[in-house]
Amino acid sequence: MKNAMPCVGLVVLAGCLTFIVAPDEGPSTEAKIESALNSFPTVVIDPGHGGKDEGASGNGLVEKTLSLDVALRVEKILKPFNFPVVLTRRDDTFIPLEERAAIANRLDNAVFVSIHFNHAKDRVSTGVETFYAPAKVPPDGSWTWVGFFNKPDAPPLDNGETLAGFIQAALVLRTDAVNRGIKSRELYVVRHTRCPAVLVEGGFINNPLEAALISNGEYRQRLASAIAEGIMSYQKTRPQPIQTPSKLARAGL
Ligand SMILES: [Zn+2]
Repeated sequence: MKNAMPCVGLVVLAGCLTFIVAPDEGPSTEAKIESALNSFPTVVIDPGHGGKDEGASGNGLVEKTLSLDVALRVEKILKPFNFPVVLTRRDDTFIPLEERAAIANRLDNAVFVSIHFNHAKDRVSTGVETFYAPAKVPPDGSWTWVGFFNKPDAPPLDNGETLAGFIQAALVLRTDAVNRGIKSRELYVVRHTRCPAVLVEGGFINNPLEAALISNGEYRQRLASAIAEGIMSYQKTRPQPIQTPSKLARAGL
């Protein structure tokens, strides 16, 4: 019995040490999942052209008007799903490409979808296609990304290819349009946005048959639904954004 006391003491001491040095377990798995689900990106919808820049026109249609119409429809669909939505323009205003990209680059967690309609020299080209950037580049004259690009361990930026795939698949399913595929192209707004960014071409307005479809509001609603569906499908595959201590504190975790 005499030897029992030191053992008891050690056990108590060990227990105390465990209590003192046990690391803070941090947020539970449930909290992390909850946080991931709630970390919806801001969806920046960019209606192509506007103001003095009409974009393509034909068969009584003007691209800048159609792109704004579809953008407003996408916003209406996404809002009830708690996606914060920002439009680069809400009316017939000219917005330079640099400003469109800058709107997205001011946000921490965003996806960018530019909406356009196509034009070809012939009258038979048809179908939908979605573009993404081959690689991201910093905005002209900006040094804000220099540190990021110089970091040897910086993860590569998501160039939007996956988002393009989800949107394109949904577009083809919902519209039955010809699938022109997803394509990597050096377009300004997809290259100069830090976030995943795509540019959707919703059909050829100089093709009389496709123009007839596009002029129909129900068809444009299908285009908008497909874009929203593609964004939502993409969001489900997205890894949780890195939570900085201040973000966790704000989230009460
Ligand atoms: Zn365009």
